[in-house]
Amino acid sequence: MSLSKPQKKRKVDLECRAFKAEWSENYFVTELDGKALCLLCSDTVAVLKEYNIRRHYQTKHSAQYSQLTGKERSQKLETLKRSISLQRSFFTKMKNENKAASKVSLRVAHLLAKEGKPFTDGELIKSCLIVAVEEMCPEKMDLFNNISLSARTVARRVEDIGSNITNQLINKANDFEWFSLALDESTDITDTAQLLLFIRGVNADFEVTEELASMNSLRGTTTGEDIFKEVEEMLTKYNLKWNQLKCVTTDGGKNMSGTGDIFSELKKQFQQRFSDPDASAEDISKFENPFNCTIEELPPNLQLEVINLQCDNMLKGKFQENNLTEFYKCLPSDEYGELRSYARGLISVFGSTYLCEKTFSKMKYVKSQYRSALTDEHLQSIMMIGSTNFDPQFEEMLSKKTISFIPLVA
Ligand SMILES: [Zn+2]
Repeated sequence: MSLSKPQKKRKVDLECRAFKAEWSENYFVTELDGKALCLLCSDTVAVLKEYNIRRHYQTKHSAQYSQLTGKERSQKLETLKRSISLQRSFFTKMKNENKAASKVSLRVAHLLAKEGKPFTDGELIKSCLIVAVEEMCPEKMDLFNNISLSARTVARRVEDIGSNITNQLINKANDFEWFSLALDESTDITDTAQLLLFIRGVNADFEVTEELASMNSLRGTTTGEDIFKEVEEMLTKYNLKWNQLKCVTTDGGKNMSGTGDIFSELKKQFQQRFSDPDASAEDISKFENPFNCTIEELPPNLQLEVINLQCDNMLKGKFQENNLTEFYKCLPSDEYGELRSYARGLISVFGSTYLCEKTFSKMKYVKSQYRSALTDEHLQSIMMIGSTNFDPQFEEMLSKKTISFIPLVA
């Protein structure tokens, strides 16, 4: 008996909170997002209870409106409702137009950054848009004037897109089982050394993500320790652990056996943190020929699985038909868990620092386009936008920006 009591109470409570049609005419209110909106003063009554609504009406409006009765009262209500709905559609339209203008400026900034063009080119593009509108649809001029493409706006948009891409990479990195790094250092025309760090991560589904993770100016004399510090910061930023790091590639694909003093010093730094920064040629050969390797030479945790594998003719067939990634992906995970993980580690290894070299030549182009100084942060955003495989999430970026709500005026 006592159990049914709270249920009953809640039911009554819910009934109280449903908007009743007769309230509109009695108190000049309408329902809006689960609240009662007063059509006379645009205040909202948060609780959908007749008591609260009546009190609002009686304290604020009844003196002025209680003499309205019958047909007069219904007409007044209709007029108020019409004007509210007109206002609302007007503000919705304005909100949509503002959003569209913001999206245009965001997308144009994206195009400029992708092509490595200076932020000031935004102003030229705006002039071009205006010329086109003047000739083709002058009645829409107001809409287009609303698009902001000043150098400052473009710079801010580029920062926003850069952070969006960084966030996408942080999310992806959450799922990395293994990752490898490619890093390279180059000195540009202004004699500032730039360090590029590319990351290649593999998740449990063998999905590979390869992105520019950071780019930094190294001022003054660069030592292996400086570079190492940048790497450490980058790992913290992406929430990655040293024990997930499979391989570090520097300088033309020579795995950490780099030429300069800097890289040999850097190698020492790495070796203190993890034992084997080189994916050895032997590891790669075992990974490439699992049916031909000598069991005794394998790490102990793989031996049993590889013995089973080498006896399985069906899997041997699959090995011959598929590329390596597809082959390892099709191994049953309950029987070949260790081998699959080993394979994913080697899939994360960069073949070369080709990406770094490609990015450096683009960076030189970008810097020459700007002539004037470009901040490190902006340069990093531009380089990330230019090299990423992610699509910027424009809609998400726009919805995060609070579009100011203009209050209704009755
Ligand atoms: Zn009111």
